[in-house]
Amino acid sequence: MSKSIVEKGFYGEFGGSYVPEDLQEVLDTLEEQFNRYKDDPEFVEEFQFYLKEYIGRENPLTLAKNVSEKIGGAKIYLKREDLNHTGAHKINNAIGQILLAKRMGAKRVIAETGAGQHGVATATACAMFGMECIIYMGKLDTERQALNVFRMELLGAKVIPVEKGQGRLKEAVDEALNDLVRNYKDTFYLLGSAVGPHPFPTIVKHFQSVISEESKRQILHKEGKLPAAVVACVGGGSNAIGAFAHYIDDPSVRLVGVEPTEAPTLTEGIPAVIHGFKCLTLLDEEGNPKPTYSIAAGLDYPGVGPEHSLLKTSGRAEYVTVSGKEALEAFQTLSKLEGIIPALESSHAIAHAMKLAAELEKDDVIIVNLSGRGDKDVEQVFKMLTSN
Ligand SMILES: *Cc1c(COP(=O)(O)O)cnc(C)c1O
Repeated sequence: MSKSIVEKGFYGEFGGSYVPEDLQEVLDTLEEQFNRYKDDPEFVEEFQFYLKEYIGRENPLTLAKNVSEKIGGAKIYLKREDLNHTGAHKINNAIGQILLAKRMGAKRVIAETGAGQHGVATATACAMFGMECIIYMGKLDTERQALNVFRMELLGAKVIPVEKGQGRLKEAVDEALNDLVRNYKDTFYLLGSAVGPHPFPTIVKHFQSVISEESKRQILHKEGKLPAAVVACVGGGSNAIGAFAHYIDDPSVRLVGVEPTEAPTLTEGIPAVIHGFKCLTLLDEEGNPKPTYSIAAGLDYPGVGPEHSLLKTSGRAEYVTVSGKEALEAFQTLSKLEGIIPALESSHAIAHAMKLAAELEKDDVIIVNLSGRGDKDVEQVFKMLTSN
């Protein structure tokens, strides 16, 4: 199949759409429909309705008083995405895209999932809207995440294990794209992070921007000023871009993305095309996406959203690394001092925010995006803490 490169959806040199022509046509329609509906008053009202009545927004901006006092530097506020229905930020995007799918007349929703979190968010949204839901998942991942497979099935989704190749996320993405090209007339591909070919990164940012829309209003109300920094963990980059969005044009606000030391895409990556778009990415010697090994499954991705790639190269945002060990400590600190068990992904952001708070002044404030709750990680942490 010939490749077409479309000159839109670029963030600097990053992003774009490097896909076969038949898939490009499907993406063009998606872009057109997204632009048609995103500001349509009825669509906006329906999205707002579900954010409130189903997800439980707006969620609080909680002062982590005990942690802040212990550090003795800047005040740390937590944006509580962990309190959303299903326990993380992913549901914001799943609901937004499902509403779009309905407008486009789709009957089937397909998605791919690695650890299962995006699959669960998608299956949840499909259950509520009565949509058929197919989740592609690498065979190996279905074995390692058997409980999430069961969760998706409880929610009425069909999970298809993909045996090809290594039976991981990459093969699941390929199968989902093949399905889309075959069935585009009645099928919507619900992508879970701010990655993939245009227009997906734009769509995902749009629906996740509710995070910073709320946090900005909340911090101005509580502190009467903007935060010195906003800190978020970065896997594909959706919670971080949502947490940054409404501060990008406020130069006094430092935007800090936190990656695992074990998957330092922005810190060490080079520009390359993977999965249909250009971003900073980790490649092996043969030029293939390099396998990564973070303790946080949601951060284990060799690429990253195109806008983060530009925010990094332009210098508007800073990206730092935190090791699995440091994240594990932050997981325990927040649990003990605040009574909040964070997701291991979010624990990376918390670990860095604690370092940053110590460097800043007492009258500064930092917002950390608490992207998800840690219930899903408790068994894994138990094993890690008791194995040696
Ligand atoms: C999936 C996930 C992430 C990473 O995904 P992004 O697209 O980078 O936000 C982070 N935190 C939690 C809780 C997740 O479930």
